[in-house]
Amino acid sequence: MTREYLNYINGEWVASKGNEYRENYNPATGELLGKATQSTADDVSYSVSMAKLAQREWRNVPAPKRGEILMKIGDLLKRDKERLAKILTEEMGKVIVEARGEVQEAIDMAYYMAGEGRRLVGQTTPSELPNKHAMSMRVPVGIVGIITPWNFPIAIASWKMFPALVSGNTVVWKPASDTPALATKFMKIIEEAGVPKGVVNLVHGSGSVVGEAIVDHPDVGVVSFTGSTEVGSELASKASKKLKKVSLEMGGKNAIIVMEDADIELALEGILWSAFGTSGQRCTACSRLIVHKSIKEKLTERLVAKAKELILGNGLNEKVQVGPVINENALKQIKKYVEIGKQEGATLLIGGEREHIDLLKDGYYFQPTIFTDVDPSMRIFKEEIFGPVLSIIEVNSLDEAIDINNNTVYGLSSSIYTADVNAAFRAMRDLQSGIVYINAGTIGAEIHLPFGGMKQTGNGHRDSGLAALDVCTEWKSVYVDYSGTLQRAQIDNN
Ligand code: NDP
Repeated sequence: MTREYLNYINGEWVASKGNEYRENYNPATGELLGKATQSTADDVSYSVSMAKLAQREWRNVPAPKRGEILMKIGDLLKRDKERLAKILTEEMGKVIVEARGEVQEAIDMAYYMAGEGRRLVGQTTPSELPNKHAMSMRVPVGIVGIITPWNFPIAIASWKMFPALVSGNTVVWKPASDTPALATKFMKIIEEAGVPKGVVNLVHGSGSVVGEAIVDHPDVGVVSFTGSTEVGSELASKASKKLKKVSLEMGGKNAIIVMEDADIELALEGILWSAFGTSGQRCTACSRLIVHKSIKEKLTERLVAKAKELILGNGLNEKVQVGPVINENALKQIKKYVEIGKQEGATLLIGGEREHIDLLKDGYYFQPTIFTDVDPSMRIFKEEIFGPVLSIIEVNSLDEAIDINNNTVYGLSSSIYTADVNAAFRAMRDLQSGIVYINAGTIGAEIHLPFGGMKQTGNGHRDSGLAALDVCTEWKSVYVDYSGTLQRAQIDNN
């Protein structure tokens, strides 16, 4: 029997009245997994009205109590970690060990934000006038609209949802159309943890209908989005006309720099993991390898040999290292860039083709692909491919490496391998990205630090870490005058 994924609105599991469904498939096998109700703008409108009603009470639940509920969500996610990981792998293809890691990220975020229930700190500060008290506090914005992509369907949702909840907001969440099963299981856990009805509402459906309705709705105060730069920038211009707060996390063209004094074996592990983990479908995936001339030949030779050994296949098999890409369109897009790279004059060292794996003929596999002789004028250097394609660029110095790293419209993650502490500190200072790794690849962010990028990767906000609270709260400054007289700031204090 085909599974049905329903909306969860005001504490009830309901299908959209539109009675349309979208099927979702396992990208490793082509197997039909289920079908999700396709909602309309009316469903969004109803969810927002229920979220608005629920927020009146939720905002006054003491923050430590809200934190306790998040703690419970963390416990339940931990209990169901293996089941969640399996759903994740079946639905979007990443290998099971990575899926477990992603669920762990949501668990960590739940516990971290649960603790925030006993902090949510503001400031108390001296007043410039006598017998007067001054302080600032965070208050919830109201309703947070959350729109998430398929590549990290639970981690990204948790980065956005838990800070919103602990600080007293209610949520309307639209997951990616490709990952309704995971979204449904996650929502069931949130329900089981005792989150009051209306506080989190799940609405399945397309970006162009449900996503846009969330962005358009006047009662949604914050839109928190992760996805493509194209959709993010469109959505931001619409939302900003209504003076909404918008937090965007979008594309990347991340690089690893390997200097002449680097530990090459260590760098190789980091490059393989960053370029081909999640089949290159991470916003932080490494798609540019910037290598010092003196070690380029050796590094390239070793890298190609190791990439050839990577095992492709269904991510449920523990031995598999690279799973499928998300769908047929992604395969076409990656292949298109491979052809562009060849036409531009880059040298294809390995890969470049769809892979058919015996019994898994319907799976969307693409070979780990490496180009060399790539230069900054090429499209494969500049544009996000979102697949297992790595471009090698040769440099002569640290300055040149940093310039090449920064020569992109994006600014999410950068990395440098070097044994020289001075070079490491110069890189930390000069690499233009929201995340910098020294002697590690471009992936592996931890949830208690801000996550996000500079330039066209984002719009100045951050998911994760304490910075996430800035997205979903407003600052309120409060002055208490206990002098019993009219005191005028800036006038009576000379
Ligand atoms: P999309 O931008 O197509 O989709 C992201 C989300 O937005 C989905 O839920 C999608 O819905 C929804 N959406 C689509 N159109 C609209 C619209 N008009 N209005 C409102 N919402 C809409 O990106 P992908 O899912 O294809 O993800 C891949 C891209 O995301 C890559 O470019 C990648 O770099 C980026 N990304 C960035 C990350 C970061 O943190 N910086 C993390 C992960 C991915 P639907 O699924 O129904 O189309």
